[in-house]
Amino acid sequence: MYVKKIKLSTFRNIESVEMKLEPGMNFLLGENAQGKTNILEAIYLFARGKSFRLAKDSELVMFGKRGFTAEIVYQKKDREETLFYGLDGKEKTKKKNGVRVDRITDMLGHFRAVLFYPDHLQLVKGAPFERRRFLDIAISQCYPVYINLYSRYLKYLSERNTLLKMAQKGTEAESFSAQIAVYSEGLASLAAEIRLYREEYVQKLAAFGKEMLFSLSNGRENLSLNYESDTVYTKGMDKESLEREYKRAFSESIKREIAAGSTLFGVHRDDISFFVNGKDARDFASQGQQRSLVLVLKLAEGKISEALFGETPVYLFDDVLSELDEERKSFLLSGIKDAQFIFTGCDREAVKGSSLHFIEVKEGKATEIK
Ligand code: ATP
Ligand code: MG
Repeated sequence: MYVKKIKLSTFRNIESVEMKLEPGMNFLLGENAQGKTNILEAIYLFARGKSFRLAKDSELVMFGKRGFTAEIVYQKKDREETLFYGLDGKEKTKKKNGVRVDRITDMLGHFRAVLFYPDHLQLVKGAPFERRRFLDIAISQCYPVYINLYSRYLKYLSERNTLLKMAQKGTEAESFSAQIAVYSEGLASLAAEIRLYREEYVQKLAAFGKEMLFSLSNGRENLSLNYESDTVYTKGMDKESLEREYKRAFSESIKREIAAGSTLFGVHRDDISFFVNGKDARDFASQGQQRSLVLVLKLAEGKISEALFGETPVYLFDDVLSELDEERKSFLLSGIKDAQFIFTGCDREAVKGSSLHFIEVKEGKATEIK
């Protein structure tokens, strides 16, 4: 699929922009602080339902204004679709093909994009939270029900933690046991469901990632990927068996959990490990290997989406071309064909190719460069 048109008004530093994009490679070119990332942020809003910069919707409003509107028109294999997102004061309006939808999840799962921006280069060596987030965002785009599942999980978790803290402080820890047990049941069921989505996704990432890293490194690097958790999962396990494992973990560790005042097991503590030639990349990967690995993970994310839905997602690459050397760039451009790319950067020479569509971004305005 590809974005045909974007319309923004009073979105961050963009007063008003209406911009056309080409199906192939697009390059948003401009000096620092002109609005390039803001435009990608607006596009990704439709894939993710919120800002990738962890900003609240109200922060997307141009300073001093009441609200913003954002609209994208994109082409799928067989049809054109439009998504609209607006904020006016506290009121949000979401529309799909001109028709209002109530929930954010009704707007998601239609437009799909893979975002790669400089922070992602920390993915390999960063905190486990970053890797879980990568996984959760990728899964949410493929399966919008996952978003709801995960937010219910977090709610249960926080309520269970509150009870554990009360039990920790109180002299009558026993009196909380029954209540905690109720939350353990709910949490175990949600954890099992989330875990199955994640295990399945990691298997897919591993398959695509292995193939790509092998090719990028000319056969020198062999990648394996594992989902890491204290709770055992064996391939093919069904939801009920997994749920039993989580319940067992919760009930066996309840005393320790009360002492700690927090939930010690569950999908909020898991991680992904990457092994390159048998060595844990979190500890041993060089800068270059980390770059290759992240690039491969991002491309694998796109390939998974393509395999599931039969169309290429839109690749949004914010300022990362300058971080990639010629070899990695050419791997990227030759490995993903027929997809739309929207790059941003300050250097016009960062990517070479005859069919590049340049757009200059300056002081919140976008102008096509012929
Ligand atoms: P760089 O090359 O440095 O990454 P950029 O072109 O990607 O620059 P953006 O991140 O898009 O720049 O930001 C452009 C400007 O928008 C920044 O100067 C920022 O302060 C400004 N900005 C951010 N939020 C708002 C807002 N709510 N209202 C007005 N301006 C904002
Ligand atoms: Mg930027």
